[in-house]
Amino acid sequence: MPKPPFDRDRLPALLNRELERFRAERPRSRELFERAKATLHDGVPMNWMVRSPGAFPLFVERAKGSRFWDADGIEMIDFCLGDTGAMTGHAPDAALAAIHRQLDRGLTFMLPTEDAIAVSAELARRFRLPAWQMALTATDANRFTIRLCRHVTGRPKILVFNWCYHGSVDETFATLATDGSGRVEPRAGHIGPPVDPALTTKVVEWNDRAALEAALAPGDVACVLAEPAMTNIGIVLPEPGFHAALRELTRKTGTLLILDETHSISAGPGGCTRAWDLEPDAITLGKPIGSGIPAAVYGFSADLARRIRAKSNVELADTGGIGGTLAGNALSLAAMRATLEEVLTEQAYSRMLPLAERFAAGVEAAIAEYALPWVVKRLGARAEYWFRATPPKNGGEAAAAHDPDLDRYMHLAALNRGILMTPFHNMALMSPASTEEDVDRHTAVFRESIELLAC
Ligand code: PMP
Repeated sequence: MPKPPFDRDRLPALLNRELERFRAERPRSRELFERAKATLHDGVPMNWMVRSPGAFPLFVERAKGSRFWDADGIEMIDFCLGDTGAMTGHAPDAALAAIHRQLDRGLTFMLPTEDAIAVSAELARRFRLPAWQMALTATDANRFTIRLCRHVTGRPKILVFNWCYHGSVDETFATLATDGSGRVEPRAGHIGPPVDPALTTKVVEWNDRAALEAALAPGDVACVLAEPAMTNIGIVLPEPGFHAALRELTRKTGTLLILDETHSISAGPGGCTRAWDLEPDAITLGKPIGSGIPAAVYGFSADLARRIRAKSNVELADTGGIGGTLAGNALSLAAMRATLEEVLTEQAYSRMLPLAERFAAGVEAAIAEYALPWVVKRLGARAEYWFRATPPKNGGEAAAAHDPDLDRYMHLAALNRGILMTPFHNMALMSPASTEEDVDRHTAVFRESIELLAC
Protein backbone atom coordinates (compact mmCIF):
# COMPACT_ATOMS: atom_id res chain seq x y z
CA MET A 1 0.00 0.00 0.00
CA PRO A 2 1.48 3.40 -0.93
CA LYS A 3 2.38 5.57 2.05
CA PRO A 4 0.19 8.62 2.54
CA PRO A 5 2.16 11.78 1.77
CA PHE A 6 1.59 13.12 5.26
CA ASP A 7 3.78 12.44 8.25
CA ARG A 8 2.22 9.62 10.28
CA ASP A 9 4.24 10.71 13.30
CA ARG A 10 1.81 13.61 13.62
CA LEU A 11 -1.13 11.26 14.10
CA PRO A 12 -0.77 10.41 17.84
CA ALA A 13 -0.49 14.09 18.82
CA LEU A 14 -3.43 15.06 16.63
CA LEU A 15 -5.48 12.19 18.05
CA ASN A 16 -4.69 13.32 21.58
CA ARG A 17 -5.72 16.87 20.77
CA GLU A 18 -9.05 15.65 19.37
CA LEU A 19 -9.57 13.40 22.40
CA GLU A 20 -8.98 16.30 24.79
CA ARG A 21 -11.45 18.43 22.86
CA PHE A 22 -14.00 15.61 22.90
CA ARG A 23 -13.68 15.19 26.68
CA ALA A 24 -13.87 18.94 27.30
CA GLU A 25 -16.96 19.51 25.16
CA ARG A 26 -18.95 16.47 26.31
CA PRO A 27 -19.10 16.61 30.13
CA ARG A 28 -22.68 15.34 30.28
CA SER A 29 -22.08 12.28 28.05
CA ARG A 30 -18.99 11.57 30.11
CA GLU A 31 -20.96 11.79 33.36
CA LEU A 32 -23.69 9.50 31.98
CA PHE A 33 -21.06 6.98 30.91
CA GLU A 34 -19.54 6.99 34.42
CA ARG A 35 -23.01 6.42 35.91
CA ALA A 36 -23.79 3.68 33.38
CA LYS A 37 -20.75 1.68 34.45
CA ALA A 38 -22.49 0.90 37.75
CA THR A 39 -25.19 -1.26 36.16
CA LEU A 40 -24.44 -1.70 32.46
CA HIS A 41 -21.71 -4.14 31.52
CA ASP A 42 -18.75 -1.93 30.55
CA GLY A 43 -21.10 1.08 30.71
CA VAL A 44 -22.88 0.39 27.42
CA PRO A 45 -26.13 -1.36 26.43
CA MET A 46 -24.42 -3.27 23.59
CA ASN A 47 -20.85 -4.59 23.60
CA TRP A 48 -19.80 -2.98 20.28
CA MET A 49 -20.46 0.49 21.74
CA VAL A 50 -17.18 0.20 23.65
CA ARG A 51 -15.48 0.80 20.29
CA SER A 52 -16.32 4.48 20.33
CA PRO A 53 -13.69 6.79 18.73
CA GLY A 54 -13.94 9.12 21.76
CA ALA A 55 -13.10 8.10 25.32
CA PHE A 56 -16.80 7.29 25.84
CA PRO A 57 -19.88 7.05 23.62
CA LEU A 58 -22.10 10.04 22.87
CA PHE A 59 -25.42 9.78 24.65
CA VAL A 60 -28.36 10.94 22.50
CA GLU A 61 -31.04 13.29 23.74
CA ARG A 62 -33.31 13.41 20.65
CA ALA A 63 -33.23 13.20 16.87
CA LYS A 64 -35.21 14.44 13.89
CA GLY A 65 -34.53 14.17 10.17
CA SER A 66 -30.82 14.23 9.38
CA ARG A 67 -29.80 15.58 12.82
CA PHE A 68 -29.55 14.48 16.43
CA TRP A 69 -28.83 16.38 19.60
CA ASP A 70 -26.51 14.78 22.13
CA ALA A 71 -26.75 14.90 25.92
CA ASP A 72 -24.59 18.04 25.94
CA GLY A 73 -27.04 19.80 23.63
CA ILE A 74 -24.68 19.69 20.64
CA GLU A 75 -26.43 19.44 17.27
CA MET A 76 -24.95 16.70 15.11
CA ILE A 77 -25.35 15.95 11.39
CA ASP A 78 -25.96 12.21 11.20
CA PHE A 79 -24.44 10.33 8.27
CA CYS A 80 -24.42 7.07 10.26
CA LEU A 81 -28.19 7.00 10.60
CA GLY A 82 -28.16 4.06 12.97
CA ASP A 83 -25.98 2.17 10.45
CA THR A 84 -28.98 2.22 8.07
CA GLY A 85 -31.64 1.62 10.77
CA ALA A 86 -32.56 5.32 10.41
CA MET A 87 -31.97 5.62 6.66
CA THR A 88 -35.51 7.02 6.54
CA GLY A 89 -34.23 10.03 8.49
CA HIS A 90 -34.99 10.13 12.20
CA ALA A 91 -38.64 10.02 13.20
CA PRO A 92 -40.15 10.64 9.72
CA ASP A 93 -43.59 12.25 10.05
CA ALA A 94 -45.48 9.76 7.87
CA ALA A 95 -44.18 6.76 9.83
CA LEU A 96 -44.77 8.53 13.13
CA ALA A 97 -48.41 9.13 12.21
CA ALA A 98 -48.91 5.42 11.41
CA ILE A 99 -47.05 4.37 14.57
CA HIS A 100 -49.15 6.72 16.72
CA ARG A 101 -52.36 5.37 15.14
CA GLN A 102 -51.29 1.79 15.88
CA LEU A 103 -50.28 2.59 19.47
CA ASP A 104 -53.96 3.25 20.20
CA ARG A 105 -55.10 0.00 18.59
CA GLY A 106 -52.89 -2.59 20.25
CA LEU A 107 -49.39 -3.73 19.49
CA THR A 108 -48.93 -7.48 19.30
CA PHE A 109 -51.52 -10.23 18.81
CA MET A 110 -49.93 -13.36 17.31
CA LEU A 111 -52.52 -12.69 14.60
CA PRO A 112 -52.10 -10.81 11.31
CA THR A 113 -53.39 -7.33 10.55
CA GLU A 114 -54.37 -6.06 7.11
CA ASP A 115 -51.10 -4.09 6.96
CA ALA A 116 -49.30 -7.42 6.40
CA ILE A 117 -50.98 -7.72 3.00
CA ALA A 118 -50.07 -4.17 1.97
CA VAL A 119 -46.45 -4.67 3.06
CA SER A 120 -46.03 -7.97 1.23
CA ALA A 121 -47.75 -6.67 -1.92
CA GLU A 122 -45.41 -3.69 -2.07
CA LEU A 123 -42.37 -5.92 -1.47
CA ALA A 124 -43.53 -8.28 -4.22
CA ARG A 125 -43.88 -5.32 -6.60
CA ARG A 126 -40.45 -3.91 -5.74
CA PHE A 127 -38.42 -7.12 -5.67
CA ARG A 128 -40.45 -9.34 -8.01
CA LEU A 129 -40.63 -12.18 -5.46
CA PRO A 130 -44.14 -13.40 -4.60
CA ALA A 131 -43.94 -14.89 -1.07
CA TRP A 132 -42.93 -12.90 2.04
CA GLN A 133 -42.46 -13.54 5.77
CA MET A 134 -41.69 -11.23 8.69
CA ALA A 135 -38.96 -11.15 11.32
CA LEU A 136 -37.73 -8.49 13.73
CA THR A 137 -34.11 -8.19 12.66
CA ALA A 138 -32.08 -8.74 9.52
CA THR A 139 -30.06 -11.28 11.51
CA ASP A 140 -33.16 -13.38 12.07
CA ALA A 141 -34.32 -12.95 8.48
CA ASN A 142 -30.94 -14.40 7.39
CA ARG A 143 -30.99 -17.15 10.00
CA PHE A 144 -34.49 -18.27 9.02
CA THR A 145 -33.79 -18.17 5.29
CA ILE A 146 -30.59 -20.19 5.67
CA ARG A 147 -32.50 -22.84 7.65
CA LEU A 148 -35.19 -23.06 4.98
CA CYS A 149 -32.55 -23.43 2.28
CA ARG A 150 -30.89 -26.30 4.16
CA HIS A 151 -34.32 -27.83 4.76
CA VAL A 152 -35.40 -27.89 1.12
CA THR A 153 -32.05 -28.85 -0.41
CA GLY A 154 -31.02 -31.36 2.27
CA ARG A 155 -27.48 -29.94 1.99
CA PRO A 156 -25.43 -29.09 5.07
CA LYS A 157 -23.31 -26.08 4.11
CA ILE A 158 -23.66 -22.46 3.16
CA LEU A 159 -21.25 -20.26 1.21
CA VAL A 160 -20.40 -16.66 2.06
CA PHE A 161 -17.87 -14.15 0.75
CA ASN A 162 -14.72 -13.35 2.66
CA TRP A 163 -15.25 -10.51 5.21
CA CYS A 164 -18.99 -10.44 4.72
CA TYR A 165 -21.34 -9.33 7.48
CA HIS A 166 -24.95 -10.50 7.74
CA GLY A 167 -25.66 -9.92 11.44
CA SER A 168 -24.89 -12.29 14.31
CA VAL A 169 -25.44 -15.45 12.25
CA ASP A 170 -23.01 -18.16 13.43
CA GLU A 171 -22.41 -19.70 10.02
CA THR A 172 -21.23 -16.38 8.55
CA PHE A 173 -18.32 -15.74 10.94
CA ALA A 174 -15.82 -17.53 8.77
CA THR A 175 -12.88 -16.04 6.89
CA LEU A 176 -10.23 -17.29 4.51
CA ALA A 177 -6.78 -17.87 5.98
CA THR A 178 -4.40 -15.14 4.80
CA ASP A 179 -1.76 -17.72 3.74
CA GLY A 180 -3.58 -18.32 0.46
CA SER A 181 -4.32 -21.96 1.36
CA GLY A 182 -8.08 -21.47 0.97
CA ARG A 183 -8.57 -22.78 4.52
CA VAL A 184 -11.67 -21.53 6.37
CA GLU A 185 -10.99 -20.06 9.81
CA PRO A 186 -13.22 -18.64 12.54
CA ARG A 187 -13.35 -14.87 12.11
CA ALA A 188 -11.27 -13.08 14.72
CA GLY A 189 -13.47 -11.88 17.55
CA HIS A 190 -16.31 -14.36 17.03
CA ILE A 191 -17.55 -15.17 20.51
CA GLY A 192 -18.37 -18.77 21.44
CA PRO A 193 -18.98 -20.41 18.05
CA PRO A 194 -21.09 -23.58 18.53
CA VAL A 195 -18.87 -25.53 16.12
CA ASP A 196 -15.84 -24.79 13.97
CA PRO A 197 -17.31 -22.63 11.14
CA ALA A 198 -15.30 -24.66 8.61
CA LEU A 199 -17.86 -27.40 9.26
CA THR A 200 -20.81 -25.24 8.27
CA THR A 201 -19.40 -22.73 5.83
CA LYS A 202 -17.40 -22.35 2.63
CA VAL A 203 -15.76 -18.99 1.98
CA VAL A 204 -14.52 -17.50 -1.27
CA GLU A 205 -13.42 -14.01 -2.22
CA TRP A 206 -15.99 -11.66 -3.76
CA ASN A 207 -15.52 -11.37 -7.55
CA ASP A 208 -13.63 -14.70 -7.69
CA ARG A 209 -15.62 -16.69 -10.20
CA ALA A 210 -13.19 -19.64 -10.39
CA ALA A 211 -13.13 -20.13 -6.61
CA LEU A 212 -16.91 -19.94 -6.50
CA GLU A 213 -17.21 -22.55 -9.21
CA ALA A 214 -14.84 -24.91 -7.40
CA ALA A 215 -16.62 -24.44 -4.05
CA LEU A 216 -20.07 -25.13 -5.48
CA ALA A 217 -19.02 -28.06 -7.68
CA PRO A 218 -19.34 -30.84 -5.03
CA GLY A 219 -23.05 -29.97 -4.62
CA ASP A 220 -22.99 -29.80 -0.82
CA VAL A 221 -23.89 -26.10 -0.48
CA ALA A 222 -27.52 -25.31 0.33
CA CYS A 223 -27.26 -21.61 -0.40
CA VAL A 224 -25.00 -18.69 -1.12
CA LEU A 225 -25.74 -15.75 1.18
CA ALA A 226 -24.44 -12.48 -0.27
CA GLU A 227 -24.95 -8.78 -0.25
CA PRO A 228 -25.38 -7.72 -3.91
CA ALA A 229 -22.39 -5.42 -3.26
CA MET A 230 -20.32 -5.83 -0.12
CA THR A 231 -20.96 -2.92 2.26
CA ASN A 232 -19.67 -4.04 5.63
CA ILE A 233 -15.95 -4.14 4.93
CA GLY A 234 -16.45 -0.96 2.97
CA ILE A 235 -18.23 -0.82 -0.36
CA VAL A 236 -16.87 -3.48 -2.72
CA LEU A 237 -18.80 -3.50 -5.97
CA PRO A 238 -19.31 -6.55 -8.21
CA GLU A 239 -17.13 -6.61 -11.30
CA PRO A 240 -19.00 -6.71 -14.62
CA GLY A 241 -20.32 -10.22 -15.17
CA PHE A 242 -19.87 -11.41 -11.58
CA HIS A 243 -23.58 -11.44 -10.75
CA ALA A 244 -24.34 -13.29 -13.97
CA ALA A 245 -21.69 -15.89 -13.05
CA LEU A 246 -23.02 -16.15 -9.48
CA ARG A 247 -26.52 -16.83 -10.76
CA GLU A 248 -25.39 -19.24 -13.45
CA LEU A 249 -23.16 -21.27 -11.11
CA THR A 250 -25.74 -21.44 -8.32
CA ARG A 251 -28.43 -22.59 -10.77
CA LYS A 252 -26.12 -25.12 -12.41
CA THR A 253 -25.28 -26.73 -9.06
CA GLY A 254 -28.77 -26.57 -7.52
CA THR A 255 -27.60 -24.04 -4.95
CA LEU A 256 -30.07 -21.43 -3.74
CA LEU A 257 -29.12 -17.74 -3.87
CA ILE A 258 -30.07 -15.40 -1.01
CA LEU A 259 -29.41 -11.69 -1.50
CA ASP A 260 -29.24 -9.66 1.71
CA GLU A 261 -30.50 -6.17 0.74
CA THR A 262 -30.34 -4.74 4.27
CA HIS A 263 -27.68 -2.18 3.33
CA SER A 264 -27.87 -2.28 -0.46
CA ILE A 265 -31.42 -0.94 -0.27
CA SER A 266 -29.40 2.28 -0.59
CA ALA A 267 -29.21 1.53 -4.35
CA GLY A 268 -32.91 2.22 -4.96
CA PRO A 269 -36.46 1.37 -3.83
CA GLY A 270 -35.97 -2.25 -4.94
CA GLY A 271 -32.34 -2.44 -3.81
CA CYS A 272 -29.70 -3.78 -6.18
CA THR A 273 -32.05 -6.63 -7.14
CA ARG A 274 -34.24 -4.21 -9.02
CA ALA A 275 -31.54 -1.73 -10.04
CA TRP A 276 -29.37 -4.45 -11.58
CA ASP A 277 -32.13 -6.85 -12.63
CA LEU A 278 -30.95 -9.72 -10.39
CA GLU A 279 -32.90 -12.96 -9.92
CA PRO A 280 -32.31 -14.32 -6.40
CA ASP A 281 -34.25 -17.24 -4.93
CA ALA A 282 -34.66 -15.29 -1.69
CA ILE A 283 -34.18 -11.78 -0.36
CA THR A 284 -33.63 -10.62 3.21
CA LEU A 285 -34.07 -7.03 4.39
CA GLY A 286 -34.16 -5.47 7.83
CA LYS A 287 -33.04 -2.29 9.59
CA PRO A 288 -34.66 0.75 7.84
CA ILE A 289 -37.85 -0.97 6.75
CA GLY A 290 -39.74 0.06 9.91
CA SER A 291 -38.33 3.63 10.13
CA GLY A 292 -36.59 2.55 13.35
CA ILE A 293 -39.27 0.22 14.75
CA PRO A 294 -37.70 -3.28 14.82
CA ALA A 295 -38.85 -5.07 11.67
CA ALA A 296 -37.43 -7.26 8.92
CA VAL A 297 -38.69 -9.32 6.00
CA TYR A 298 -37.61 -12.24 3.88
CA GLY A 299 -39.12 -13.29 0.58
CA PHE A 300 -39.02 -16.33 -1.73
CA SER A 301 -39.36 -16.99 -5.44
CA ALA A 302 -42.46 -18.95 -6.50
CA ASP A 303 -40.32 -22.06 -6.93
CA LEU A 304 -38.68 -21.81 -3.51
CA ALA A 305 -42.07 -21.10 -1.91
CA ARG A 306 -43.43 -24.25 -3.54
CA ARG A 307 -40.49 -26.34 -2.33
CA ILE A 308 -40.84 -25.03 1.22
CA ARG A 309 -44.56 -25.77 1.22
CA ALA A 310 -43.93 -29.29 -0.10
CA LYS A 311 -41.70 -30.00 2.90
CA SER A 312 -43.84 -28.28 5.54
CA ASN A 313 -45.80 -29.99 8.26
CA VAL A 314 -48.64 -27.84 9.60
CA GLU A 315 -48.74 -29.77 12.88
CA LEU A 316 -45.12 -28.80 13.55
CA ALA A 317 -45.27 -25.24 12.23
CA ASP A 318 -44.87 -23.66 15.67
CA THR A 319 -41.46 -25.25 16.28
CA GLY A 320 -38.40 -25.89 14.18
CA GLY A 321 -36.18 -22.88 14.61
CA ILE A 322 -38.14 -20.38 12.56
CA GLY A 323 -40.21 -18.21 14.79
CA GLY A 324 -40.38 -15.14 16.94
CA THR A 325 -43.46 -14.39 19.04
CA LEU A 326 -43.16 -10.71 18.26
CA ALA A 327 -42.31 -11.08 14.55
CA GLY A 328 -44.97 -9.58 12.29
CA ASN A 329 -46.47 -7.68 15.22
CA ALA A 330 -49.02 -4.97 14.47
CA LEU A 331 -46.70 -2.08 15.31
CA SER A 332 -43.88 -3.34 13.06
CA LEU A 333 -46.34 -3.93 10.23
CA ALA A 334 -47.87 -0.45 10.54
CA ALA A 335 -44.37 1.08 10.55
CA MET A 336 -43.27 -1.00 7.55
CA ARG A 337 -46.36 -0.10 5.55
CA ALA A 338 -45.85 3.62 6.12
CA THR A 339 -42.11 3.35 5.42
CA LEU A 340 -42.67 1.60 2.10
CA GLU A 341 -45.65 3.64 0.97
CA GLU A 342 -44.67 7.09 2.21
CA VAL A 343 -41.02 7.37 3.27
CA LEU A 344 -38.58 5.27 1.20
CA THR A 345 -40.38 6.15 -2.03
CA GLU A 346 -39.09 6.64 -5.59
CA GLN A 347 -39.28 10.37 -4.95
CA ALA A 348 -37.17 10.07 -1.78
CA TYR A 349 -34.46 8.20 -3.70
CA SER A 350 -34.42 10.90 -6.35
CA ARG A 351 -33.30 13.27 -3.58
CA MET A 352 -30.93 10.89 -1.79
CA LEU A 353 -28.87 9.69 -4.76
CA PRO A 354 -27.70 13.14 -5.96
CA LEU A 355 -26.76 13.98 -2.36
CA ALA A 356 -24.49 10.92 -2.19
CA GLU A 357 -22.97 11.96 -5.53
CA ARG A 358 -22.34 15.43 -4.10
CA PHE A 359 -20.79 13.86 -0.98
CA ALA A 360 -18.47 11.69 -3.09
CA ALA A 361 -17.50 14.62 -5.34
CA GLY A 362 -16.68 16.83 -2.33
CA VAL A 363 -14.46 14.18 -0.75
CA GLU A 364 -12.80 13.36 -4.09
CA ALA A 365 -11.95 17.04 -4.66
CA ALA A 366 -10.28 17.31 -1.22
CA ILE A 367 -8.37 14.05 -1.80
CA ALA A 368 -7.13 15.40 -5.15
CA GLU A 369 -6.17 18.75 -3.58
CA TYR A 370 -3.90 17.01 -1.06
CA ALA A 371 -2.78 14.32 -3.52
CA LEU A 372 -3.78 11.56 -1.07
CA PRO A 373 -3.71 7.95 -2.29
CA TRP A 374 -7.33 7.52 -1.19
CA VAL A 375 -10.40 6.56 -3.20
CA VAL A 376 -14.18 7.02 -2.86
CA LYS A 377 -16.84 4.42 -3.70
CA ARG A 378 -20.60 4.81 -3.83
CA LEU A 379 -23.64 2.53 -3.77
CA GLY A 380 -26.70 4.68 -4.45
CA ALA A 381 -27.34 6.78 -1.35
CA ARG A 382 -24.21 5.44 0.39
CA ALA A 383 -20.65 6.67 -0.11
CA GLU A 384 -17.35 5.78 1.48
CA TYR A 385 -13.71 6.78 1.30
CA TRP A 386 -10.81 4.35 1.55
CA PHE A 387 -7.23 4.70 2.72
CA ARG A 388 -5.92 3.11 -0.47
CA ALA A 389 -5.40 4.38 -4.00
CA THR A 390 -7.61 1.92 -5.89
CA PRO A 391 -10.97 0.35 -5.06
CA PRO A 392 -10.54 -3.06 -3.40
CA LYS A 393 -11.62 -5.98 -5.54
CA ASN A 394 -12.69 -8.20 -2.65
CA GLY A 395 -13.06 -8.47 1.12
CA GLY A 396 -9.49 -9.65 1.70
CA GLU A 397 -8.03 -6.58 -0.03
CA ALA A 398 -10.52 -4.34 1.75
CA ALA A 399 -9.67 -5.74 5.20
CA ALA A 400 -5.94 -5.32 4.51
CA ALA A 401 -6.46 -1.58 3.88
CA HIS A 402 -7.90 -1.03 7.35
CA ASP A 403 -5.94 1.65 9.23
CA PRO A 404 -7.36 1.83 12.77
CA ASP A 405 -5.43 4.94 13.93
CA LEU A 406 -6.25 6.98 10.87
CA ASP A 407 -9.80 5.75 11.01
CA ARG A 408 -10.16 6.80 14.64
CA TYR A 409 -8.68 10.22 13.93
CA MET A 410 -11.03 10.90 11.00
CA HIS A 411 -14.08 9.83 13.03
CA LEU A 412 -13.11 11.83 16.08
CA ALA A 413 -12.21 14.96 14.10
CA ALA A 414 -15.63 14.71 12.43
CA LEU A 415 -17.43 14.17 15.77
CA ASN A 416 -15.74 17.23 17.27
CA ARG A 417 -16.95 19.28 14.30
CA GLY A 418 -20.57 18.10 14.50
CA ILE A 419 -20.62 15.09 12.17
CA LEU A 420 -21.28 11.41 12.89
CA MET A 421 -19.97 8.91 10.33
CA THR A 422 -20.78 5.17 10.33
CA PRO A 423 -18.49 3.55 12.90
CA PHE A 424 -15.77 1.05 11.97
CA HIS A 425 -15.41 2.43 8.46
CA ASN A 426 -15.65 5.77 6.66
CA MET A 427 -19.13 5.52 5.32
CA ALA A 428 -21.90 8.08 4.95
CA LEU A 429 -25.54 7.41 4.17
CA MET A 430 -28.11 9.92 2.90
CA SER A 431 -31.71 9.96 4.14
CA PRO A 432 -34.67 11.69 2.50
CA ALA A 433 -34.16 14.41 5.15
CA SER A 434 -30.44 14.98 4.40
CA THR A 435 -29.57 18.29 2.74
CA GLU A 436 -26.91 19.84 0.53
CA GLU A 437 -25.95 21.94 3.54
CA ASP A 438 -25.25 18.73 5.54
CA VAL A 439 -23.11 17.36 2.73
CA ASP A 440 -21.16 20.60 2.22
CA ARG A 441 -20.48 20.80 5.95
CA HIS A 442 -18.97 17.31 5.76
CA THR A 443 -16.78 18.32 2.81
CA ALA A 444 -15.44 21.31 4.79
CA VAL A 445 -14.79 19.16 7.89
CA PHE A 446 -13.13 16.41 5.84
CA ARG A 447 -10.89 19.00 4.17
CA GLU A 448 -9.95 20.55 7.51
CA SER A 449 -9.17 17.10 9.01
CA ILE A 450 -6.74 16.20 6.24
CA GLU A 451 -5.23 19.67 6.22
CA LEU A 452 -4.31 19.16 9.88
CA LEU A 453 -2.59 15.92 8.90
CA ALA A 454 -0.63 17.43 6.02
CA CYS A 455 2.85 18.65 6.92
N1 PMP B 1 -27.29 -7.85 6.98
C1 PMP B 1 -26.47 -6.83 6.68
C2 PMP B 1 -26.03 -6.65 5.26
C3 PMP B 1 -26.05 -5.97 7.68
O1 PMP B 1 -25.24 -4.96 7.37
C4 PMP B 1 -26.47 -6.18 9.00
C5 PMP B 1 -26.02 -5.29 10.15
N2 PMP B 1 -25.02 -4.42 9.91
C6 PMP B 1 -27.33 -7.23 9.26
C7 PMP B 1 -27.73 -8.06 8.22
C8 PMP B 1 -27.85 -7.49 10.64
O2 PMP B 1 -28.75 -6.53 11.03
P1 PMP B 1 -29.31 -6.57 12.53
O3 PMP B 1 -28.12 -6.35 13.42
O4 PMP B 1 -30.28 -5.43 12.58
O5 PMP B 1 -29.94 -7.89 12.73
